Amino acid sequence: MAEVKNLIVGCGLSGAIVARNLADDGQEVFIIDKKEHIGGNIYDYRNEHGIMVHKYGPHIFHTNNKVVWDFLTRFTEWQPYFHKVLVFMDGQFVPLPFNLNTLHCVFPKSISGKIEIKLIEKFGFNKKVPILELVKTEDKDLRFLSQYIYENIFFEYTKKQWGVAPDETDNSVLARVPVCVGCDDRYFQDKYQGVPMNGYTAMLQKMLDHKNIKVHLNTKFDGTFKYKNLFWTGSVDEFFGYKFGELPYRSIRFDFKTFCRDKFQISATVNYPTNYDFTRITEYKYFLNDKSENTTISYEYPSDFENGKNDRQYPIVNDSNTAIYAKYMELAKENPNVYFFGRLGDYKYYDMWAAAARALEVYEKFIKKQ
Ligand code: UDP
Repeated sequence: MAEVKNLIVGCGLSGAIVARNLADDGQEVFIIDKKEHIGGNIYDYRNEHGIMVHKYGPHIFHTNNKVVWDFLTRFTEWQPYFHKVLVFMDGQFVPLPFNLNTLHCVFPKSISGKIEIKLIEKFGFNKKVPILELVKTEDKDLRFLSQYIYENIFFEYTKKQWGVAPDETDNSVLARVPVCVGCDDRYFQDKYQGVPMNGYTAMLQKMLDHKNIKVHLNTKFDGTFKYKNLFWTGSVDEFFGYKFGELPYRSIRFDFKTFCRDKFQISATVNYPTNYDFTRITEYKYFLNDKSENTTISYEYPSDFENGKNDRQYPIVNDSNTAIYAKYMELAKENPNVYFFGRLGDYKYYDMWAAAARALEVYEKFIKKQ
């Protein structure tokens, strides 16, 4: 195969963003993906019932980063959408993140009123407190509350999701879903939130639709590729032939079901920490307000990632895995024309906006070097 100037491995959000920026700069780009579709883990499609389904689980775009938002807005209109999640606890469906509304749902007024005042006095109204911080409080009522939340929301969900107890996960994981000392039931509070009006796949299709970009699907990276610059959004251990061992990931099996009824549940996502083997159920018609006499949902069953058997979904960030990743990064220094990024390339639990910001940063760094 003839040498290509810019080869991008992985046609997900990260790879597509770098591809488009290079193409706009007048550079030729060759982008490959081993899958049969573009989009990586944000791939979505309209199913036979007219419902936009996210093949790899619910993706809700949210960011405070205007540069990222403006960049993506070149390629899509947005359906304003504010994600609301309910958690099934103590026999009730209540708002998550746990907030003052949740507090009043789960306790009688005589208890919730007292705790509400203490929370506001200690942390301030509308403040967010990671559960692992709340469990350290000395006040007996706040300790009682934190234990209750820890046991009913975090403990078993985390065991299902990560295969280990919460104290064996990185603090940043649980901090993604803090306790909120306010009444905002939204899962995210970012300034810009939404779902691409025609889906994520269509957004990326438009991004890749450029005369300088050639996309090759069903194409694995192998030794036959010759390139001047390589942009690698796959897992870094794979690039280096697993020389220092495999980087562990968690995977999810999505079990999709369609029912002939208008709605299945009362919110787009419902979490089930203590019941069942799945972690959550998502009902897809909520995102774009799809009209259909049917409804499609997915159950999420987490498991370990097994090479060749399932997909990498979540890097397992902890000290020993970070050390393995650091060894690969040392090796990467010997390959200055290879750029690693994306959730897998950076081995970071990025949200979409963070992956996008990182891709824009990689492009800027690359351009400065030219
Ligand atoms: N989490 C939990 N119970 C919940 C929701 C979240 O224990 O009901 C913990 C769990 O460890 C999870 C992490 O918080 O992996 C982050 O949750 P988030 O909803 O951000 O996960 P994602 O949407 O990225 O899968």
